[in-house]
Amino acid sequence: MRCTPPRPAPTCLPPGDTPVSPRRVGGALTLLLGLAVLLPAPAVAWNAAGHRLVATIAWRQLDPDSRSRLAALLARHPDHGRWTARAGDPGQSAFVEASTWPDDIRRDPRFFDDGETATPSQSGYPDMARHGAWHYVDEDARGRRLGGELDRQIDRLSRLLADPRGAPGERAYALPWLIHLVADAHQPLHAGVRDDEGGNRVSVHDPRHPRLSVMSLHAWWDDLPGPPWLRGQRLERAATALEADHPAPPMGSPTQWIRESRQLATGIYPPGETSPLVIEDDYRSRARQLAGERLVAAGHRLARLLAALLPAGESERNASPPLPAR
Ligand SMILES: [Zn+2]
Repeated sequence: MRCTPPRPAPTCLPPGDTPVSPRRVGGALTLLLGLAVLLPAPAVAWNAAGHRLVATIAWRQLDPDSRSRLAALLARHPDHGRWTARAGDPGQSAFVEASTWPDDIRRDPRFFDDGETATPSQSGYPDMARHGAWHYVDEDARGRRLGGELDRQIDRLSRLLADPRGAPGERAYALPWLIHLVADAHQPLHAGVRDDEGGNRVSVHDPRHPRLSVMSLHAWWDDLPGPPWLRGQRLERAATALEADHPAPPMGSPTQWIRESRQLATGIYPPGETSPLVIEDDYRSRARQLAGERLVAAGHRLARLLAALLPAGESERNASPPLPAR
């Protein structure tokens, strides 16, 4: 989910990247596990399966009126037709498929990366940038921002979406981004605390990984939710299983969600000094548990955020709707 050109190893997609610089990293699994117990609202995020799971869980929480408003807004997006081409409820399909749109445009030649020559404007898009820096926010040990705009963009997009007087096209553009970034905010490595590009420069070896023996730690975490082609009934069953295992968290605020992720990120590195670090069975099983908690938390919080941003009778509201407290 980390798409941060010109970073060397973006990993929003199924891992195909090559870890650049294996390094010894401190922190122990025990710390990760301790944080998982102590934090009031654990949650994590992801590859396409992770984003669809978060969106599916959110959709289940939304009432029919909220679903209708969201579906109407997504119908204004220029890529809406792609999202509803599959079988099933068109509103849910659009909502779930839109969750990966900010990652999908990485492979779309209509769009350009930071530092590249801008591609031609196209009807219906406020701009054609891929905005790789929107997916994460990194800080150093002193809390100084190292890069990324995840927190700022969740704020900005929320305000844009909540403004009933805003241009419909801009609000339709904002919605897939917000669906996506709420999930990203729950992936600990999207709120990194080291200068290792959110674990992209830490390589791990997982002897049980189905496709790659060595990959970046970030890619390994992004892949935890399941195969990226997860859709349909399998997606529904996976979402049901996660919801059965993990309770809904307190709402908190986007700032708190990212703070949780940052706390988790400090202890997310597998123990050891080898290069690559080896993923042991114990680390894998506990990481999956934590990932599940973060996915469920993201789904519930996304639903509540969207319901607050697009309440019934929005046309009667003024242009400065309240956001969740920071
Ligand atoms: Zn992302």
